[in-house]
Amino acid sequence: MNTLEEMYSADVLGKPAQELMQQLHTYLQQAYKEQTPKVLAWEEPKQEYQFWKQFLTQGDSSKLFQEVLDRSIHIHHPKYIGHQVAPIVPFGALTAAVSALLNNGMAVYEMGKASTAMERVVAEWMATQIGYSSKSRGIFTSGGTLGTLTALLTARRQAVSEDIWNQGTSKQYGIMVSAQAHYSVDRAVRIMGMGEQGTVKIPVTEHFVLDIDQLQKSYDRAMAEGIEIFAIVGSAPSTATGNYDNLEAVAAFAQKHQLWFHVDGAHGAAAIFSDRYKTLLKGIEQADSIIIDGHKMMMMPALTTAVLYKEGVANYSTFSQEASYLLEQSEEEDWYNLAKRTFECTKNMMILHWYAMIQQYGKQGFAAIVDRLYDMGKTMAKIIETSSDFELAVQPDSNIVCFRFVGAGRSDEEHNACNRKIRRALLDDGSFYIVATTLNDCFYLRITIMNIFTDQSHLQQLLNDIRKAAK
Ligand SMILES: *Cc1c(COP(=O)(O)O)cnc(C)c1O
Repeated sequence: MNTLEEMYSADVLGKPAQELMQQLHTYLQQAYKEQTPKVLAWEEPKQEYQFWKQFLTQGDSSKLFQEVLDRSIHIHHPKYIGHQVAPIVPFGALTAAVSALLNNGMAVYEMGKASTAMERVVAEWMATQIGYSSKSRGIFTSGGTLGTLTALLTARRQAVSEDIWNQGTSKQYGIMVSAQAHYSVDRAVRIMGMGEQGTVKIPVTEHFVLDIDQLQKSYDRAMAEGIEIFAIVGSAPSTATGNYDNLEAVAAFAQKHQLWFHVDGAHGAAAIFSDRYKTLLKGIEQADSIIIDGHKMMMMPALTTAVLYKEGVANYSTFSQEASYLLEQSEEEDWYNLAKRTFECTKNMMILHWYAMIQQYGKQGFAAIVDRLYDMGKTMAKIIETSSDFELAVQPDSNIVCFRFVGAGRSDEEHNACNRKIRRALLDDGSFYIVATTLNDCFYLRITIMNIFTDQSHLQQLLNDIRKAAK
């Protein structure tokens, strides 16, 4: 048994830490160069559970980190093209280590002196990038799901006449969002007590984006059913296909009906940094609130999300007991007490990732990753279009590409069965990691190119592996 003095020995960060860093260095090099045999050594959940149950008491604790490395999915491997989590820049491991060791809780200023000030600086920097005025304010929170919940709470506070935060309500409220939106929007609505009917889903076009022509009809129908709509959410982009809603048109609709306009830019608001792709976000500067995940397209360790508000006063009102918040009178004493504006009480120093990345790599760094990955999405679309045994679900706007193998069978049912088996075979094999999605009752293979080392030859190889699996 260790004494407390041993547990707290600073020497843990001496030689053992140097050795671990060496191990991580080797791990990363091997992942980059595909020397790690598989992206994921798949095992059934029950098997994995058994392993860790036994390892806890009988395993060699000096092998713990090696086992974790071996048994985890290798996001830095160029054949990892599945979900939207970032292969972080290695520098992020350093900011994460500093944040973890300092453990400044940030609920009050004294408990996060440096990080609290950094949050304000970064929120202001981000606002400038978006095109917000100096009236904008923002916070950083633990993920896009929590970010959207926070923004929709703000929306209700601002756009509804009742004081629901203090007094509750029995009225039915609702928000509008594309049928292809991320499930976090629906979840936020349910948490806010508005039920399933509180999410008014707008049909999508053949491009899988919100159908602007359906907005008025959906709105009128909801209002006729007694659902008071107070907000509308634009996806930038949606999760399944990665296509961007027409934010400008949504903004115009929101303005016409005095709705709060929230942009779910968890994945793709980072396109704002790219001269080539920022047109996808046209109109975003009209949003009342925006979320952007640092841990998706911005190369940072999970979990960190910026929640930006066009009007600072709204940002301060979310959790305030006061019915109306006067920014001019109170902000000077309040901006540095972050827990008043965030869901979290204790929060980690996530802002260190943002601040350090901006300082080290700047806007150009964020632009470069968006350009590289979104370009590669287009490359993949071209490859599929020129392969007669494959079919695109839709032209991609981003680095998310949905497609299916159509080289065996004719009907959608046959294609569905075949592509389901392909996805399963790829998972078992472990050479590539891709995911899947269902669109209009069709089962599609889905990739998100998150890795700068994933090139055209990998994508060709994937299609060949799929052909082999189909046989
Ligand atoms: C990932 C994602 C979310 C959820 O964000 P988390 O950080 O995983 O909580 C919400 N919306 C979209 C469009 C996403 O891609």
